[in-house]
Amino acid sequence: MPSSPAPSSGALLWFREDLRLADNPALDSAVKSGRPVTAIYVLDEQTEGLRAMGGAARWWLAQSLRALASDCAAMGLPFSVRRGRSDHLVRDALRETGAEAVFWNRRYAAREIEIDAALKEELQGDRFSVQSSNCRLLHEPWEVKSKWGDPFKVFSPYWRAAQARGEPRAPIPRPSKGQIEPGRAIDGESLDSLGLEPTRPDWAGGLRDAWTPGEAGAKARLKAFVEDDLRGYASARDRPDLPSTSRMSPHLRFGEVSPHQLWHAVERAAAEGPATARDVEKFRTELGWREFSHHLLFQFPELASRNFQKRFDDFPWEKPKPSHLMAWRKGLTGFPIVDAGMRQLWRTGWMHNRVRMICASFLIKDLMIDWREGEAWFWDTLVDADPANNAASWQWVAGSGADAAPYFRVFNPSLQGVRFDPDGGYVRAFVPELENMPARYIHAPWEAPPESLSESGVELGKTYPLPIVDHGAARDRALKAFDRMKAES
Ligand code: FAD
Repeated sequence: MPSSPAPSSGALLWFREDLRLADNPALDSAVKSGRPVTAIYVLDEQTEGLRAMGGAARWWLAQSLRALASDCAAMGLPFSVRRGRSDHLVRDALRETGAEAVFWNRRYAAREIEIDAALKEELQGDRFSVQSSNCRLLHEPWEVKSKWGDPFKVFSPYWRAAQARGEPRAPIPRPSKGQIEPGRAIDGESLDSLGLEPTRPDWAGGLRDAWTPGEAGAKARLKAFVEDDLRGYASARDRPDLPSTSRMSPHLRFGEVSPHQLWHAVERAAAEGPATARDVEKFRTELGWREFSHHLLFQFPELASRNFQKRFDDFPWEKPKPSHLMAWRKGLTGFPIVDAGMRQLWRTGWMHNRVRMICASFLIKDLMIDWREGEAWFWDTLVDADPANNAASWQWVAGSGADAAPYFRVFNPSLQGVRFDPDGGYVRAFVPELENMPARYIHAPWEAPPESLSESGVELGKTYPLPIVDHGAARDRALKAFDRMKAES
């Protein structure tokens, strides 16, 4: 039952990047306000300056909204989806429901912050009650500061300071059906009419096979991870050939699960099962990198479009050769681990973190293509494409970011393959042309003797590409360009 006497007017809950009912502070506050609640989601493709979601993320959004609609219906919470300018549609929804209070959880990309701040001010000026909450991050980006009150640019001190703030709060339970007083239902658009899913051609088959978007899907994935794969996470998380990581990233991206839920779930699982304190700590540190990316995005809103380190503004990127860019996107570079990664991305909308680093390094350093080209491709193809993590990670690999990998550290794709995919199982899963190559040559088929190639049914340049660049020469070229930039800056 509501915890305070019900005011007569309703509450509007505006879902955004928090497509869940459990551990949702905005929903919790709306319910506790004692007002009848109506919920909306707005697909905003009209407000100027918002970055349009990529294709894979749009597919995910459609599934997630479908799941949310059905969860809301089961709770008796009226929910509708509308398309248009979010500020106008929130006002329309307030008028149509007669609600005098609106609740939402915060977002952190620059344009989204501007929209929310302006709307909040306007609505408060018109005597609406507006309450925004944090549900996406363990620590608000502005809360973690150095001793001198400055934001951090280096991960380790950032994470130490974040942790010194104390244990993140416990997750808020999902309200029970009886606790929600349904508000006035309003019209919405059908999910099918939003055009979020591909039709001609329908390229989403691989995504459907790989994922179950929605809060229940996130819950099931988390359960499987903590029961089966958390144990050994600290040592195996760099192995793309093993089910070594949680795959929670798209669920986190759409807010189907919160970092608080993950933080506490791994601790509970370790207390009850075989995972070690090291596994828990390592997993939490990865959540820490996610927090740090948001901290960077908040202090540098142009993270996806400008170099964090200004000296990279003069870096002599090559004009991308269309054949190189295409080979990279399609997984036809002739470097098996790169090709496996790029094909995993295309097929499933996701790529293992180690392989993301290898593929990004290949584009930036072997092909000398501006990191923004890669960021944009990942933005379009990843189901977890995220304004903070994607941009921060690309800049990290490029060396232009905060606390970035030094530019002179150039991944050798074959050696990375040998080290992190020792039996070649990952390559075989995504590059069927190399299925029969012996492990010894699978990461450098150009080194295989002719008998081995013919026994494996591989004809380089025909059934599988020859390398599109010479890695040694490409590395030298990249390092020279970097030295020139350093000398000139
Ligand atoms: P787990 O290892 O299980 O980690 C748990 C969670 O921690 C992840 O879901 C993620 O939210 C967070 N996390 C893990 N590693 C990182 C990291 N290096 N940086 C920030 N957060 C991390 N992640 C995205 O969520 N969206 C992106 O758009 C994205 N783009 C990337 C682009 C490049 C070039 C690189 C190198 C990395 C990118 N990452 C991105 C970070 C990372 O690769 C993914 O978060 C991770 O692979 C997700 O898999 P998981 O959920 O199994 O990770």
